[in-house]
Amino acid sequence: MMTNRFDGKVVLMTGAGSGLGRSAALQAAKEGAKLSLVDLNEQGLEETKQAIMEVAPEAEVLLLTANVAEEEQVKKYVDDTVAHFGRIDGFFNNAGVEGKQNLTEDFGSDEFQKVISINLNGVFYGMKYVLAVMKKQGSGSIVNTASVGGIRGVGNQSGYAASKHGVVGLTRNSAIEYGQYGVSIKAIAPGAIMTPMVEGSLRQMGGENWEEVGKEFVQPNPMKRFGKPEEVGYLVAFLLSDQANFINAAVIPIDGGQSYKY
Ligand code: NAD
Repeated sequence: MMTNRFDGKVVLMTGAGSGLGRSAALQAAKEGAKLSLVDLNEQGLEETKQAIMEVAPEAEVLLLTANVAEEEQVKKYVDDTVAHFGRIDGFFNNAGVEGKQNLTEDFGSDEFQKVISINLNGVFYGMKYVLAVMKKQGSGSIVNTASVGGIRGVGNQSGYAASKHGVVGLTRNSAIEYGQYGVSIKAIAPGAIMTPMVEGSLRQMGGENWEEVGKEFVQPNPMKRFGKPEEVGYLVAFLLSDQANFINAAVIPIDGGQSYKY
């Protein structure tokens, strides 16, 4: 029997207007969560809310438009969540961008700064303000979205690689600090999951032929396919739930095994 792992719990998620964030929000809502959903894209947030209403019409959902790269906006989405719901039990610190693909020498310093400011600064700010809340509560779970690009070399992704390796470092560092307060912090390292981000990446490689390029792209994967957003949603819901409280500082690949392949 499936239990409602999030009954009475408040879960905050960034990047909730699309892809992995939306998928995790749907899963947590189905299991009883009250949700505070953050994204830069207001329309994406509205679409996520509509999708939630179809599967969990009773769910309480707060939508907050914010840019995670701006510290004051991060402080505000955390403050607004606490003002509305009174606490934060789970935090999916997930918003991110890939950036333009290029060799290191051509990558571009502005592009590098941009990707770092969203993927790394944004994750740090989120942890900074949410951890203060969870420490006071004496409980909580944080899942940061890293990537296989945060544990392996992928190529053509200087900004993404630096930021996602940084997310792994932030995860491990804070996990060691906050375990004593009942708070666990983990990261996920997804491989290629078919979301708008990956479609965009394939279009950078193959233009109009992106679907063909996609078929080639998954051939090295042991499972010879892309991951599905809902597969990541199931993992994130488990990691945010009390069932995963003793999983701390771990970086969990969800990539069909590809990152272990020689
Ligand atoms: P997506 O593009 O579908 O969704 C990302 C969401 O983040 C979008 O709704 C976007 O508006 C939002 N966002 C972007 N910049 C923002 C900002 N500055 N402030 C607030 N919101 C912002 O992508 P996705 O595939 O769902 O990616 C989610 C996370 O997963 C990212 O961190 C990404 O790096 C990571 N990831 C994805 C894959 C994959 O294969 N899809 C693999 C590894 C890691």
